[in-house]
Amino acid sequence: MDILAAADAIAGAQGRAWPLIEGLAESGKMPPSLIFAGPEGSGKELLAVKLAARLNCEAAGSGAACGGASRCPACAKARSLEHPDIHIIYAVPHGEMEKALPEVLESRREDFFVSGEFGGRARSIGIDLVRHVGDVLSKLPFEGRRTVVALFEAHLATAEAQNALLKLLEEPPASAAIILVTEFPDRLLPTVLSRCYEVRFDPLPAAAIAGFLEEFYSVDSSEARRLAALAQGNLRRGIKLLEERFLRLWKDAGEAARLVVEGKAKELLAEAEGLAGSRDARERARNYSREEVAELLEEMVALFGLLIRNRDARLADAEREVLEETFGAKGLSAALARNLPADMRKISSSIESIRRNADMELTLSQLFLDLAGAWR
Ligand SMILES: [Zn+2]
Repeated sequence: MDILAAADAIAGAQGRAWPLIEGLAESGKMPPSLIFAGPEGSGKELLAVKLAARLNCEAAGSGAACGGASRCPACAKARSLEHPDIHIIYAVPHGEMEKALPEVLESRREDFFVSGEFGGRARSIGIDLVRHVGDVLSKLPFEGRRTVVALFEAHLATAEAQNALLKLLEEPPASAAIILVTEFPDRLLPTVLSRCYEVRFDPLPAAAIAGFLEEFYSVDSSEARRLAALAQGNLRRGIKLLEERFLRLWKDAGEAARLVVEGKAKELLAEAEGLAGSRDARERARNYSREEVAELLEEMVALFGLLIRNRDARLADAEREVLEETFGAKGLSAALARNLPADMRKISSSIESIRRNADMELTLSQLFLDLAGAWR
């Protein structure tokens, strides 16, 4: 994928963020440290690469054109993540930086949106990665004007790493720019945040996601519109829905959500066993991994969010069709009476338990029974 073409497609849809970034770049008043904050799949990573390219573009300021099919040599390297002055830092399993960082970069060159290279293993941005950033920043750019470091999922930086990062943010070299990219800025130290110029990202409009799926994944337009409605402003989710595995997971999430609003406790217990049951039961059923069960619950949270917006009559047509398909008229009217924010909190807390290794079947059964009102 041409990453800059993908970024261009998203930039126009990020109503506030990109004009702000571009304005800073054009005025020559680019702050040395920025934070790109906003929900998953809102294009933060793409626009970080676009900014890094913009800061090193050979045509910028010269009046010459750079874009579309004719990229300057610097942007041609940036769009395949091969520019020597643009460094992208990914969170990797502890102590595996030397091997893992080049591996992730290689796989993102092939598919910028892939994830999960390390199975469900815990990843972090450790002190070793921040030292690596320090080394990179201590040298002058090789061939561009600016050394740009983008830390993706910056909230995964350990406390020790954040303190080391703070030192770099306090005295950045004039030729450097650091971009912290994160969904969870509140997990960064206040001292780190206060050093960074914050750019806020919004969820992407459905039309932008549909257009992206058509252009870069050759999805036909009616299917793209449907997937974009399911994606809920999250481009990453829209792309994941193209995978059969994820689509099946999404459908199972919808089935569980429907049983919840209809209060079908017995069916939900069977569902819990089918989704996350003991090894034998799982072989007979769907064989979801722990992370997949967590993802499935995340999709339930998204569906309940959609139900809330439906109640406030704030849905696009394609979104309402998704809800009707999932819940049916009976389910939708039952959902009107629910305390949906409380439902979402309960599901979110089960997601955390499951990610912390709690027994999956037990956690799911308790959650489902609770949601179905079995204990009221
Ligand atoms: Zn260029």
